This record gives sequence, C-alpha cells and structure tokens, in this order.
Amino acid sequence: MTRQAIWDELRDELAALDRAGLRRRRRTLESPCGPLARVAGRELVSFCSNDYLGLASDPALIDAAVAGARRWGVGSGASHLVSGHLAPHEALEARLAAFTGFARALLFSTGYMANLGIVPALVGRGDAVFADKLNHASLIDAAQLAKAQGADSQRYAHGDLAALERQLAASPARRKLILTDAVFSMDGDLAPLPGLLALAERFDAWLVVDDAHGFGVLGPQGRGSLAHFNLPVSERVVYMGTLGKAAGAAGAFVAASETVIEWLLQRARTYIFTTGSSPIVACALLAALDEIEGGDARRAHLWQLTAQLRDGLANTRWRLLPSPTAIQPVLIGDNHEALRVADALLERGLWVPAIRPPTVPKGTARLRVCLSAAHTAAQVARLVDALRELAGAAGDPA
Ligand SMILES: *Cc1c(COP(=O)(O)O)cnc(C)c1O
Repeated sequence: MTRQAIWDELRDELAALDRAGLRRRRRTLESPCGPLARVAGRELVSFCSNDYLGLASDPALIDAAVAGARRWGVGSGASHLVSGHLAPHEALEARLAAFTGFARALLFSTGYMANLGIVPALVGRGDAVFADKLNHASLIDAAQLAKAQGADSQRYAHGDLAALERQLAASPARRKLILTDAVFSMDGDLAPLPGLLALAERFDAWLVVDDAHGFGVLGPQGRGSLAHFNLPVSERVVYMGTLGKAAGAAGAFVAASETVIEWLLQRARTYIFTTGSSPIVACALLAALDEIEGGDARRAHLWQLTAQLRDGLANTRWRLLPSPTAIQPVLIGDNHEALRVADALLERGLWVPAIRPPTVPKGTARLRVCLSAAHTAAQVARLVDALRELAGAAGDPA
C-alpha cells in the first residue's frame, strides 16, 4: 500500500468517527488536578478525575515529592531488577502489603501494565481465564495475551455468578484464573466478590481483583473492596490496586502471597522490561498512604456528596446507574445526545465527560460523574440544578 493510500484510509476512518459522534478530543488543563479546572482561560468545576480523595494536589503529597526529589533525585535510571529499585520503592511495597494485609506487594508503573503483566505470567497452555464482560480494557487485553499463550479465554455476563459457575464446572483447565474489576469503572457498581471468592474456592481457581476504584475509597481506612466486603485475605486472591486514582499520584501494585509475588517478579514482562518509576512518586505515595489511612473525614464527605447527587437526580429523565461508589454515571443512551448534554453543561461551567462506545456498550452512552472529597456541596448542587434543567421539567420523567 502506498503511503498516500494509507493516509486516505485513515482520514476516511477519522471522518467516520466524526459522523458517529465518536471522535475523542483532549482539553489542556491550565491548572493542577482538582475540583476547579482552568481550561482555555475558563474556570470549570470538574467532575472528571478519579482523584476521589483530593490527594493529587494535596500539600502533604507535594511536600513529600519535593523532599523526595532532593533526597533521591528524579529518575530511577534502570529497571527494578537491574538498579532501579530504590529504598522508597522498597518501603512503599512493604507499606502496601501491610495495609492490604497480604504477604507481599510488588510495584508496577501503571495499572494497565500490572494487569498485562499478571495474567500471562500466571496462565498459558492448558489453563483458562474467566472474565467479567464489563472488565476494564487492561484486563481484556491481559486475557488476550493469555490466549496468545495458549490459554482458554472465556467471558461471563456482568456479575453473573451462575454463568461463571457453569463455565468453571465445564472447564478442564489446570489453572483457572477469574478476572474481575472490583468496582466497574464505567458503571460504578461492585463485583460480587464474596460469591466470586466462594466459586474460586470450590473450583480451585484464582481470583484476580482489579481494585482501581476501590483502593483508598472503600472499606475501613480505605483498605479497598475486599475489606469492604469483610473478606479474609486469601491465598487465592491476586489483588491489584492502582495509585493514580484515590492515591493521587501514579502507578499500581499487586499484592498476593509471597510465592505469587516472587513469581511475578521473575516473570511479569511489564515489570521486568521497563524502567522503575520515579522515586519521587514513591515518596509522594508513602505520604498518600498516611492520608488514606487517616482519611475517614474525606471519605465521609465523599459519601455525603454521593447521596446529595443521587437524591438530587431522583425522578429525572435520565437514569442514574445503581452505583454505591464515587463513580455516578447518568445513562443517556445516544452518543450525540450525550455529547450535547456534556456541551450544555460545559456552557454552564460544569465539566462532565460523555463516555461513548467502545468504552461502554453501544446505546449506553453516558455522563460519567466522578465525585471527589475535594468537591463542595455547593458545587454538587450546581451540577444537580443544571442536569435537572437539561433533563426537562423536574419530576417529570419521560
Ligand atoms: C484506571 C484503571 C486501570 C489502569 O490503571 P492505570 O494506573 O491508570 O494504568 C486498570 N483497571 C481499572 C478498572 C481502571 O479503572
């Protein structure tokens, strides 16, 4: 194919994205991450970020990062297994293991890389993965990698324990790995973790829990979704938490038994073949863990705001998905309508992302409202008022 022909093809496909209301565009933030975002000179109230506890610009983290830069420099210089594993990384892993209750933890540069590393390191030919249909893209890609290594890969209907049970019962695989988001990123609902763990026990399977949106937010002291369900720490669980959302910085970790972590350290390609993350980030995260552990007031405020939003939007035309978390999606359906509503909110100084396929299933475009402990009740009230106005007459569901 000539270069010109390839370009024509790409331009046609981009034009098709425009027609379908699916072209993505970025906005450049002229301010730090927080409830007030400066964009193109305008101040907006942002309901976009996953900074659930408001730690991304917290002074305690900033101070720790600055002090960390002076003490440890900026870069790690190499992969962890060569010479890029610094004392702050080691201290952070120990803290994360203790905090989550697992024997050991391993840091990854991002949650995406953690998922891509864990799954193909644990399964191959003769094994199988079982994945919830609404899992995050990183777990979907991880299952693809497992498949490329010869593992069987199956998906079960969202949260459907009976369907998973049938698949597990019928599977002749040696190793069975169940993959699930703990909090589903576009719906905000929780996976049935107690039922999933019971199935893992019964069928001698492992359970990989991606707690990107639960870590720091759910459970006593923000210890995450397993703690939220009061589940005991199990050797069958491989727990993945991300550190760029509630923890306010960047990165991710996997916590599990000593043996699993040691194996991942030896075999997870996304751990081995990448430069260790900046020690500055590890220093900021050590401070973040203090804030998370002592963050009951932040979490209480977050749940107050969540209740305020849900109460405020009851009986409007657009359905709120049944989410008990800080992710509160307003289901709109049509791509273009979702974009129109998001634009209308933007005109009113309110920034809420419209999420469209392929991130969510066709016909389920939505506004994904993300609340943070850094929001005020007045900011949430503004959003409620604007949405009620846009939805048409209040208390008049179509
Ligand atoms: C954000 C997210 C990830 C990816 O984590 P990053 O650290 O942003 O790469 C993985 N899983 C889920 C469910 C997520 O929401």
